[in-house]
Amino acid sequence: MNHYLSASEKKTWTLIQDKIKEKVTQQQFTTWFSNLNLIKLDAYEISILAPNSLCKEWIENNYMDAVTSSLAENHIFNREVRFIVEDNGSSEPKLHVHNHHSSPGAHNSTHINKNYNFDNFLVGPCNRLAHAAALAVSESPGTAYNPLFIHGSVGLGKTHLLHAILLQSQEKGHKALYLPCESFVNHYISTIKTGDWDSFRNKYRQIDVLLIDDVHFLANSQSSREEFFHTFNALYTRQKQIVLSSDCPPEEIPTIEERLISRFRWGLITRVDPPGFETSVAIIQKKTALLNMEISYDVARYLADNVVSSIREIEGTITNIHKYAKMNESKIDLSLVKQIIKGFSKQRHDIGIEKILNTVTKHYGLQLSQLHSKRKLKSITLPRQIAMHLARKFTSLSLGEIGGYMGGRDHTTVMHADDKIKKLKIIDRNISSTLRKLENSLIKQQEY
Ligand code: ADP
Ligand code: MG
Repeated sequence: MNHYLSASEKKTWTLIQDKIKEKVTQQQFTTWFSNLNLIKLDAYEISILAPNSLCKEWIENNYMDAVTSSLAENHIFNREVRFIVEDNGSSEPKLHVHNHHSSPGAHNSTHINKNYNFDNFLVGPCNRLAHAAALAVSESPGTAYNPLFIHGSVGLGKTHLLHAILLQSQEKGHKALYLPCESFVNHYISTIKTGDWDSFRNKYRQIDVLLIDDVHFLANSQSSREEFFHTFNALYTRQKQIVLSSDCPPEEIPTIEERLISRFRWGLITRVDPPGFETSVAIIQKKTALLNMEISYDVARYLADNVVSSIREIEGTITNIHKYAKMNESKIDLSLVKQIIKGFSKQRHDIGIEKILNTVTKHYGLQLSQLHSKRKLKSITLPRQIAMHLARKFTSLSLGEIGGYMGGRDHTTVMHADDKIKKLKIIDRNISSTLRKLENSLIKQQEY
């Protein structure tokens, strides 16, 4: 296919690609974006040619934000973005190859954190079963639970457990391989291009334990699911261990086929939950001890009560306290910790709506009545929308309640305003810096 682009269209395309490069890693760019071609750009649509449907699917599912904001940064708004797949009459795996980037080692570089071992994993009711199963699997791969499927929301120790299994089973002399699902998919894609299926299959099939993290990623690509299915079967029939993690149970992975779900059910499916109070205290004491931080039981209790969403968040808070105390050479006591949490925590954000309205009107030099009015001047609508966005972010008021405070607007208006500001925040530097200022000022005003 020939695409006749004017010089200025070519230049625009280069500029768009440059913006995309800023938003993704180099490997992601080479894998997904380097073989795209612009074919049409007019007032209504932009059409981009993708080398195959996998590439099209993958970008549409994972990188549309990067694409639309890169377009916006080049002042291309309100166009329909279409990805078109080249019809070259051949089946997908025979795509023509013009890539020189995928070195064979590119997928071997997964970082393994040696600290994610069983010794450092604290067991509580929230993760007891997952931990026991993980131990069993590393003792005798392929026999205890196969596959082992661990699911739960982010920051609850799934990756930690997978690493622990990897380290332990390697120590026992088993050949084990850990990789994030995205790497599996990337490797699959680059193999489509190189055609080197032998080394692809050798890599995943000549092992005793295969650990794939975040398999919900498979939702994005039907053809890699297919390949994963074959890998699974090859290992399973030879009684090799398969361990998977996901942010949801198998049946909730979007687009996943029943045959995969049913295979996941052959083994053990177990969930990790957020830690309860006692486990949180224990985790806090363990993590602080590792950092040689001395904290009283009161402080540990306070943290456990106030930082609740995930173990990753607990760790983050402890690191922040550690840094702060070191920098200021202060002793870590309850009042210091309260003060620090007040500054860092995203959780305690129920700031009164009055404060938000005051802060916004003051910043823009407006009267509250102007914010409430029906006037549609941009100098008023923008601050009004920002106030609604901040109210969504910092209060637990419902959409309707916020609308009520904004001069009797209905909930859809609030929802649109919130969406709009979230989008503007990504593409408009002025707005993002104003928001940062306003948010800092609100956090400072927050009473404890
Ligand atoms: P996930 O993969 O579920 O998002 P991670 O395994 O990355 O979560 O865990 C987030 C952080 O919390 C890691 O630093 C990990 O070491 C720590 N962590 C999670 N669970 C535990 C636990 N039970 N004991 C000690 N540290 C934990
Ligand atoms: Mg993880």
